[in-house]
Amino acid sequence: MPRVVTHIHSDHIVGISRTISLGQTIIGTPLTVEWLNALGFRVPSSTTYRLSYGQHLKLGGGVIELVKAEHIPGTAQVIYEDAEGLRTVYTSDFKKPGISTPIIEADVLVIDAVYGDPRYVRDFDDYIDDVLADLVRQLLSQGPVYIYGYYGKVQEVMQLLRNKGISAPFLLPHKQFLLAKVAERLGLHFGDYFHASSSEGREVIRGGWYVYLRHYGGRVNGPGNHLVLSGWEFSRPFRMLGNRRWLVAFSDHADFNGLISYVKESKARLVVVNRFRSSGAGAFANYVRRKLGIDAVLLP
Ligand SMILES: [Zn+2]
Repeated sequence: MPRVVTHIHSDHIVGISRTISLGQTIIGTPLTVEWLNALGFRVPSSTTYRLSYGQHLKLGGGVIELVKAEHIPGTAQVIYEDAEGLRTVYTSDFKKPGISTPIIEADVLVIDAVYGDPRYVRDFDDYIDDVLADLVRQLLSQGPVYIYGYYGKVQEVMQLLRNKGISAPFLLPHKQFLLAKVAERLGLHFGDYFHASSSEGREVIRGGWYVYLRHYGGRVNGPGNHLVLSGWEFSRPFRMLGNRRWLVAFSDHADFNGLISYVKESKARLVVVNRFRSSGAGAFANYVRRKLGIDAVLLP
């Protein structure tokens, strides 16, 4: 069986080295495949399909198609239509359903209910992009700004800040820089950005006006203000943690209401809740069965 890699987050590439060493076929968007290579996985081109959004590939008597999901760059939802016309859709991770993540009609919907519990609601999701950009703009007037995020999320935030008119140069650590270079080759735009250790990068640091996007989990230090992006904050869009440290409730996943709207509009007859990547999977399946009247099961 081929393996579809929907995006490069670590919980979605579990066992990828084994997949590669077994010579199993890999299917992913061109950016996802290139990013796997940039992360050092050496995906063999002979057994890999780079499938662009909307392109179809015949597979096992049916057809597979990848559709954009708003999450990190390159993320895909998966449609598989079998020979009898039964449509199974796997959403993978997504946010903004019906806005920048197309809702796909399905017979069977497999969903990653990251915020499956009805308590996981963020009323500010619609305007959190503006909140983040405004905070960065305000803090840039005091000096440099540091933002912490995972692979992919950093590149998503770079695009977002440019779209919102932030023009300060970006600084990136090595791997994040490589990922940005690859993404730029495939058509993404980030404006001015520099490897933090390059001579240009050091020059920018001396200038004192920049946004430094670091890998989450690294040290929180340096001059200026520090923004940690968190998906597990529901009460307020942002708050100060003290001493130039801020927490912004910027998530890459739809909240409970977003998940429910996807399920409803997909018109699915069966919902499969991916327990592996869900919190409150049981509560979510119950809600779908009782309130929406749609059959729901948990897997695995
Ligand atoms: Zn993800």
